Amino acid sequence: MSNTKTLIEVPDFITVRDLAAVMHVSPINVIKELMSNGIMANINQEIDFDTAAIVAGEMGFDVVSTAVAIAQEEAIESEISRPAWRKVLASEDTRNLVARPPVITMLGHVDHGKTSLLDVIRQTNVQAGEAGGITQHIGAYQVAHNGDLITFLDTPGHAAFTAMRARGAQATDIAILVVAADDGVMPQTREAIDHAKAANVPIIVAMNKIDLPSANPARVMQQLSENGLIPDEWDGDTMVIQVSAKEKLGIDDLLEAILLVAEDIAPKANPSASPTGTVLEARMEKGKGVMVTLLVQNGTLKQGDTLLVGEDYGRIKAMFDYRGKRLKQASPSTPVSASGLSGIPEAGSQFEVVESEKAARKIIADRQEANRTQPIGRSGAISLDDFFSRLQEGETKTLNLVVKADVQGSLEPITNSLNKLSNDEVELEILLAATGNITESDVMLASASEAIILGFNVEADPIARATANSEQVEINYYNIIYKLIEDVDKAMKGLLAPVYEDVVIGRAEVRQVFRIKGAGNIAGCYMRTGEARRNAKARIIRGTTLLYTGPVSSLKHLSENVREVKAGFEFGVNISGWDDYYPGDFIEFFVSQRVEQ
Ligand code: GDP
Repeated sequence: MSNTKTLIEVPDFITVRDLAAVMHVSPINVIKELMSNGIMANINQEIDFDTAAIVAGEMGFDVVSTAVAIAQEEAIESEISRPAWRKVLASEDTRNLVARPPVITMLGHVDHGKTSLLDVIRQTNVQAGEAGGITQHIGAYQVAHNGDLITFLDTPGHAAFTAMRARGAQATDIAILVVAADDGVMPQTREAIDHAKAANVPIIVAMNKIDLPSANPARVMQQLSENGLIPDEWDGDTMVIQVSAKEKLGIDDLLEAILLVAEDIAPKANPSASPTGTVLEARMEKGKGVMVTLLVQNGTLKQGDTLLVGEDYGRIKAMFDYRGKRLKQASPSTPVSASGLSGIPEAGSQFEVVESEKAARKIIADRQEANRTQPIGRSGAISLDDFFSRLQEGETKTLNLVVKADVQGSLEPITNSLNKLSNDEVELEILLAATGNITESDVMLASASEAIILGFNVEADPIARATANSEQVEINYYNIIYKLIEDVDKAMKGLLAPVYEDVVIGRAEVRQVFRIKGAGNIAGCYMRTGEARRNAKARIIRGTTLLYTGPVSSLKHLSENVREVKAGFEFGVNISGWDDYYPGDFIEFFVSQRVEQ
């Protein structure tokens, strides 16, 4: 943990997203910190200065209000020396942002050569001789090309890529789309394009297997163009590099292309910030305990730092790089494997560094408490129903959709009609439109991008259904196109917002009042019409006056607790918050029911 605290300037109100940006940390960490303080906020929500100051303070920052900063600055305008904290701000804030190596993920259709390319890049660019020349598989590695470092994530495929995003990780800077020159663009190539685009990650195409006689580069470029990736050779924006993992051709060109794109996006981090990053892999190893591979994304991780990941924590006993070489510290974009964590965290979880194991335990306990008391959904989960209310609250302007249909012939009219629904207030973004059943990969894409899945004449795989459940992703099934379009249209106009109505389910008459020591009064009733239910609410009516409304707290029939009582039976009831029953009162039981508009 860095000893010098970075000073940040915060206005009276700031969104969670902006606060995270000022601190150069993941918004997820800010949300978690807020949660540990009992505040549930989403990424677009504004928090006030005091709240921001508490959260930032706990995350290792000193905070000054923008208003105070300006006032102080104006007060000392004539002085030559700037106040000390201003100097700190200037040196720690933007000036401390330094370039970091780009982080690369390989995507593409199965068997097009992602693993082979990763292997070749590693073999040809990691100096042999060091640590016996053997590279360890830790989930990521780094190579140097013309003196510049590049970090490669070693788990290829968009499933891993998107699963990480769904956990909150934005680890990848550039995606390499591997397309076999003989096979061309295949279904998973298209999916990979959609997943990378949904993540706003630039794509470089590695056209692999050009050694094959059946390679057809022109055809592949045509297909890429049809999928929105116009090759630079054709005056487009997408670099297409011809390579052969087998013959080790074009590898340098590919690395060169990565550095060119990296120059463009200029990834940066603050090496002196409190360290944060993503868990790439985690496993139990014999004799070593839990080993995690971490991608440091901000700050400098040091041996001895106390890690906190979700509900696991521990001091880093030892850190190694991908060559198995021991490291004392790791700067941004460095992957390291580390031991010392108490449990096995999920890949894609965000790690942070805290003061001590005691502090970690406190934060975890607070988080558990917050989860227990406010078991609300994941902040990312969205449904057609609540889209409009989130729109109204300014949380969102884009409705992200994943559309799956049985055949191309129905997919096209659906996407065409959906595209026409976008208006000034709401933009519809179709992240993926494809044929086939709804898969786990679709659900993870939706989860990572806060999207809703629309299925037309398709089903969801059992794994996809289970994932949708745990990720709280909404899947809407249709078999009539206009109904699908109508629902999305209504959601955009807020007409789908659920409306609840009180529905009376029964009426009872109070006949006797029992005083139970220590438990208050129980109304002995006779159920005249309908029924009483344990989970209902009740109104107490005397004559024509409504005296009280509250939930049923106990319902008994012949001294047994029951869930419901039907008309014609006698029973005892207690209404939470009310004690003053009189014979002759009426109790009306009602439930809130969702009504279709
Ligand atoms: P992945 O599924 O995308 O990771 O693909 P792999 O790296 O496992 O490669 C799939 C198959 O293609 C393997 O049999 C490789 O040997 C072969 N392969 C990979 N790259 C090349 C290449 O450049 N040329 C040829 N001819 N075969 C390759």
